[in-house]
Parts: sequence; structure tokens; C-alpha cells
Amino acid sequence: MKIKDLLTKDKLTVSFEVFPPKTESNFDSVKHATEEIAKLCPAFMSVTYGAGGGTSKYTLDIAKNIKDQYGVPMLAHLTCVSSTRQTVRQRIADIKEAGIENVMALRGDIPQEMIGEDRSKWDYHHAIELVRELKASDPDMCIGGACYPEIHPESSNQKEDIKYLKEKVDAGCDFLTTQMFFDNNLLYNFLYKIREAGITVPVMPGIMPITNANQVDRAIKLSGSFMPQRFKSLVDKFGYKPEAMKQAGIAYATDQIIDLFANGIKNVHVYSMNKPDVAQKILENLSAILN
Ligand code: FAD
Repeated sequence: MKIKDLLTKDKLTVSFEVFPPKTESNFDSVKHATEEIAKLCPAFMSVTYGAGGGTSKYTLDIAKNIKDQYGVPMLAHLTCVSSTRQTVRQRIADIKEAGIENVMALRGDIPQEMIGEDRSKWDYHHAIELVRELKASDPDMCIGGACYPEIHPESSNQKEDIKYLKEKVDAGCDFLTTQMFFDNNLLYNFLYKIREAGITVPVMPGIMPITNANQVDRAIKLSGSFMPQRFKSLVDKFGYKPEAMKQAGIAYATDQIIDLFANGIKNVHVYSMNKPDVAQKILENLSAILN
């Protein structure tokens, strides 16, 4: 099933993101965790892709397994900046052969060792080039793109970021998924600005349940997200008590999702971090709302 068709239905949905194993040795444990999440029957699941291509094979293995065994619609992530055109074309062919209809077209972070290089030699510079490549290879493919309510860290201002986002969408994105955020007002402001700029495709907010205190620094470093005082207080109070922190983090994420639904958002993507218990608890908290 194409995700763009799911997003136009008049139904509230929750979907989950998982990540592939880094090595063969933890393949089985990741496969098991993703299968447990699939058994919860989310609207769809996405599988991330290692920027350096290290876990590229596993992305597809995990996505194909869930699609074939559990019938959950799958979104395979693909990055381009650290790959050659030949590699990307092979990955696209593999995705099609696996019967995956949805691809998240990403640039990927620029690896440290590439930063000083002559960029004219790179095959890809921005996600828009991958969107065009995917469209050219199969006009029917459903394509997602990333967006940043708090601006991409490399952008000097939001106006410029939204201008490039519009170009990426016009090149063929069917939907957008946001970077994580912890203050819904940032999302509402962002949505207002992108709609004003003429971006009309569905936008799925990405919600990250923070379930242990160590995750906080990593999440901020990765996303540059603003941490509201309400969230900081919760980490201060419960961060040293793992079970309490987990409960509070799930409650915070649930509260964000309920507020999003109450304000007209229909589809929320949860960064479930391969944690079936967290995914399950969130769905339990929303059971009557999603019915
Ligand atoms: P782009 O859309 O290319 O944007 C990157 C920057 O370049 C922005 O500042 C933008 O404004 C600017 N820009 C865009 N087009 C142009 C242009 N034509 N000229 C000049 N500037 C331009 N990373 C992974 O490695 N694997 C994953 O699976 C993964 N999944 C993600 C999922 C989501 C929902 C999100 C939000 C991010 C994900 N990332 C993933 C991280 C992502 O790869 C990084 O944030 C990366 O730095 C940017 O990727 P992008 O696709 O947004 O790039």
C-alpha cells in the first residue's frame, strides 16, 4: 500500500520507525523487536538507512520481512550523499524487487571525512537529486522527504530552508515527515509557514518518546531540538529512576500526540527506537482515540 493513499483517508493513525541492525550478530534481536512492533498493526512502519550505507542491506531485509510476514505497509529509507550514482541505482532496483512501494528520500548527514572534499566530484549533494532519480526510475513510487520545524542545522534561516523544501516537494515528494520536536507550537508555526509557501502535501509529525535520561543529550545533539522547561523538569525529577522516567517519557509523548490529533493532525509517526513495549504502551494510551 502506498503511504500517500493512507494519509488522505479520514482516519487518525500512528506509525512506527525502526532501525536496522549494525552487524549480522544482532540481526535476529532487531528482527524480533521489529516483528513485535509489526504485531501491533501500526498504519505503516519505516526502516532507517545507515548514512554510510553500512546497514543498507539490513534496511531492506527488515522491511521485506515485515511486509511479507505481517502485511504492514513499509517505508524504506534511502540516503544518497555518501553514495555513488551506481550504488543508489542498485539500491532503488533492490527496493523495487522487494516489492516496497514507499521510499523516504534523504540526503544523509555529510560524513566527517567528506567535509573538506571537492563537492563537484560528488554524485549527490541534496535529497532533491535522489527524489528526481526515484521519480525517473518509477513515476508510481510513493516518495517521502524530511523536514525540520526548527530548521535544518545547516540552514542559515527558515525562509531559505522552506524555499529548498518547496523545491524538493515539487520534484516529487508525496509527503513529508518532520524531525522530532518536543513543543507542538513549533510544529504549528512551521505548518503555517510551509502552507503559506505553497507546500500542500501531507506532513507527518515525528514524535520521539524519551524513555531514559541518557537519550536526552543524544536526541538534542542529533536534532538540535528545543527542550521545553516542562520536559526538563520531568527529566530532572525522574531521570535517575529508570521505570519512572520511562513512564513519564511515554506520557509526555502521548500528550504531544493527543494535542496534535486535537489540533487537526491525522497521522503521527513515532520514533519507537526498536522498543515494542514503548510502542505498545503508546497505542494503549490512545486506544479509544484511534478507534
Ligand atoms: P536535504 O533536503 O538535502 O537538506 C539538507 C540541507 O540542505 C538543508 O539545510 C536544506 O535547506 C539544504 N538544501 C536542500 N536543497 C538545497 C539546494 N538545492 N541547494 C542548497 N541547499 C539545499 N539520516 C540517515 O542517515 N538515515 C535515515 O534513515 C534518516 N532518516 C531520517 C528521517 C527523518 C524524518 C528526518 C527528519 C531525518 C532523517 N535522517 C536520516 C537525517 C537526515 O539525513 C539529515 O538530517 C541530513 O542532514 C539532511 O537530510 P535531508 O534529506 O533533509 O537533506
